[in-house]
Amino acid sequence: MGEPHAVQPDQKVIEDLMAFGAHDFKKCFQCATCSAVCTLSNNDFAFPRKQMIAAQWGLKDKLMGDPGPWLCFYCGECSKNCPRKANPGETMMALRRYLTSAYDWTGLSRLMYSSAFWEIGILALVSAIVVALFTLPQSFGFGLLSRSGAAPLHTVMLDKFAPVGMVDMGDRIMALVLSFFLLTNAARMFYYLTRDQKIPARLYITQLPSLILHAATQKRWNGCKDSEATKNWIRHLLLVTGYVTMFTLVVVFLPWFQVNDSSIHWTSFLGYYATTVLVGATVWMLIDRIRQHGEMYQFSHLSDWLFPILLFLTAVTGIGMHLLRVNDLPMATYVMYTVHMAIAVPMLVVEVPFGKWAHLLYRPLAIYVAAVRDKAAQCSSLEVAPAGPVPA
Ligand code: SF4
Ligand code: SF4
Repeated sequence: MGEPHAVQPDQKVIEDLMAFGAHDFKKCFQCATCSAVCTLSNNDFAFPRKQMIAAQWGLKDKLMGDPGPWLCFYCGECSKNCPRKANPGETMMALRRYLTSAYDWTGLSRLMYSSAFWEIGILALVSAIVVALFTLPQSFGFGLLSRSGAAPLHTVMLDKFAPVGMVDMGDRIMALVLSFFLLTNAARMFYYLTRDQKIPARLYITQLPSLILHAATQKRWNGCKDSEATKNWIRHLLLVTGYVTMFTLVVVFLPWFQVNDSSIHWTSFLGYYATTVLVGATVWMLIDRIRQHGEMYQFSHLSDWLFPILLFLTAVTGIGMHLLRVNDLPMATYVMYTVHMAIAVPMLVVEVPFGKWAHLLYRPLAIYVAAVRDKAAQCSSLEVAPAGPVPA
């Protein structure tokens, strides 16, 4: 009979986590100071210490079934107080990137998160397709938009350049495609978070309000006790209202939003609101990130830059196009329209289901499942694994 094999950490997972931005978690010596200072932690759940152990051992299944990393809003208290400089806050951030790619069945997310070449390359490819769709028909008289005929250059007639019916159809197809990928990935997340748990079906219904509440308000963020928590929460909330307004205008109200001439319509005012908060919030975030203001901005992955930069450029080119249109500058309007679409479309198609934007759905879903699992765990007769921190 041979010697029993000692259990070894899974080096492949550990290397993966490092590639996703967790550089210091191996320094952790399990003192639990982070759990003592984290507002998410309680008597039953040592958060984020528990996740630090799972990361150090490379326990992929445990990590994929844990809603914990999504409940953290990166206040940074744990990292500030860690005696080993193991950066638990940044480890939770890296875990969210890792889990986004682990839940994505296409493999695209993994490709993008682990390679700047692929991330930029995929965005550039979708951008090039968008530019081709809008320019080739105008230049050579063939392609998707050729039926619209040549766009006039004496006055703005956007419908001749980009027929609103076709763009509207394209928007809806885009929304369907990105929803398909996002929802199927979220379904995988839900499966991993709930498998092997005996949870009564009624709890999924009674806890639904927490899903809606947290998706709409991200109020968990304000539960952090650091001095920046309320500022970060309000800024994030404003950002969400901005892109939800813009997304609704583009996908639901495009025929009223993409107007043909130089006039101003009711949709313009919603556009003013959306672009103002998008520009304001993203510039604020970028300044904080450049200055490395606070723990949250000490480390920046490429995806952390792309998120505000793409939003900012989408808003600025949208404003530019509006100004050129109302001043009746046809060629400049058409060019700016193309640039705007070449930034906005790849941002939505690529970043929403496969990139950092996926947290829009993953966070509230994790908070919801954590609430369901905690309720189930309170019923002593049920075999339910601890869900992690109890959501506020
Ligand atoms: S991450 Fe730091 S504070 Fe937390 S258990 Fe490890 S060494 Fe202690
Ligand atoms: S960053 Fe804040 S919320 Fe996240 S684990 Fe650390 S202390 Fe907790």
